[in-house]
Amino acid sequence: MDSQVNQELFELAVEQAYDSVLITTAELDLPGPKIIYANDAFCKKTGYSREELIGKTPRILQGPLTDRGVLQRLRQNLENGTRFEDSTVNYRKDGSTYVVHWSISPMRDNEGKITHFVSVQRDVTQTVQLEHFNQRLLEHLAEGVIGINHEGQCTFVNPSAIRILGFPDEDTLIGRCSHDVIHHSHADGSAYPKSECPIHQMLHDGVAPEPWRDYFWSYSDKPVPVEVSATPMRYNSDPVFGGVFIFRDISEQLELEQQLHKAASHDQLTGTYNRRFGDHVLGKEYARVEREESQVALILADIDHFKDINDTFGHLVGDQILKQFTEVLQSRLRAMDSLIRWGGEEFLIVLPDTDLKGAQTLAEDLCQAIEKNHFEADVDRLTASFGVSLLRAAGSIEASIKQADQALYAAKQSGRNCVIAESS
Ligand code: GH3
Ligand code: MG
Ligand code: MG
Repeated sequence: MDSQVNQELFELAVEQAYDSVLITTAELDLPGPKIIYANDAFCKKTGYSREELIGKTPRILQGPLTDRGVLQRLRQNLENGTRFEDSTVNYRKDGSTYVVHWSISPMRDNEGKITHFVSVQRDVTQTVQLEHFNQRLLEHLAEGVIGINHEGQCTFVNPSAIRILGFPDEDTLIGRCSHDVIHHSHADGSAYPKSECPIHQMLHDGVAPEPWRDYFWSYSDKPVPVEVSATPMRYNSDPVFGGVFIFRDISEQLELEQQLHKAASHDQLTGTYNRRFGDHVLGKEYARVEREESQVALILADIDHFKDINDTFGHLVGDQILKQFTEVLQSRLRAMDSLIRWGGEEFLIVLPDTDLKGAQTLAEDLCQAIEKNHFEADVDRLTASFGVSLLRAAGSIEASIKQADQALYAAKQSGRNCVIAESS
């Protein structure tokens, strides 16, 4: 290319460049360097015409919000003849501001003497605002946010993540493998291998897992129940370079769910299972009987003359007696047995892996325990009657309970405070 064409081409390139380009003289003493060239992008950005700029100092772009520290560093660099790059606030002709990111390089003549400075500038207002916005958002988000690199090491931790997990500061997490620090074990203390961790899986396959419930370990080594969602980070279709996971502490929610579950399945007064949950237990056990996995026995217990207790001592005492009655029964049952409030003062006991004889023996033990128990208040004697049957695959749940009910009726008929098993 001949030098004439070459020069025109470069002039055009600078003139039409996307970034603002400014060339000044190299005087640093007051009134400072003078603008000798500004490209089209610079004029458009600042609102000054080229004529207005030529001969002026670039200080016309500065104002109260311009960072003095940055300007001082700039001056030092220029005095040392080194390149400078930074960001600050610039002012347009109309007084409005924008954030500029710019570099200034010295231009030297053949002897190496600095003759000019060339400055290339870009308006980064939107980027800075977005970064600022993102920063504020992450700082104020109630959820914990942790960024990790492709090896799973923490690169970013927001204040909520530190708060939820009780870490003293972000330095206790940054640079360390998030799995090793907060995700090493399941809630029961058993090991949680990285190969099973959805976050690490995501770093490998680049697919965001469905949000899930998990436990993260606090700084004081306590499992914190959390709900987590994770997203892989990548540019377009490049390999994953890291990920972000967002989590919230669900301790309170879990507690509430447990309370709701308890309220839905338990009797409020006695704390035994309610009839609704009893139906569920019976259905499950009946299925086992049908598969011939187990013999399941039923005991129906009913307090004798409970109406008299209420009439004599009042309903509140009656309530207390009901509670104590179930405590006596419950204390003699295995963990696998179910005590169900079947009616007012009538309780159904479901006994897995128990035959009729075993259930009858247990019922007799319960009958004696009730008779011997010292109940609260002035109720010095309380008895109950018991009917025993088997959950039979040949019949139905209802038919099996009816058998127990008939046995209970027979026990009442034969003078109460006794046990009668179905006649098979
Ligand atoms: P039996 O020996 O024939 O079983 O006589 P009973 O008096 O126990 O029988 P009945 O079924 O006639 O009476 C049951 C009583 O239980 C009537 C009802 O007021 C009382 N009851 C039912 N639920 C509760 C409760 O939650 N609290 C109290 N205090 N009493 C209850
Ligand atoms: Mg009764
Ligand atoms: Mg009754």
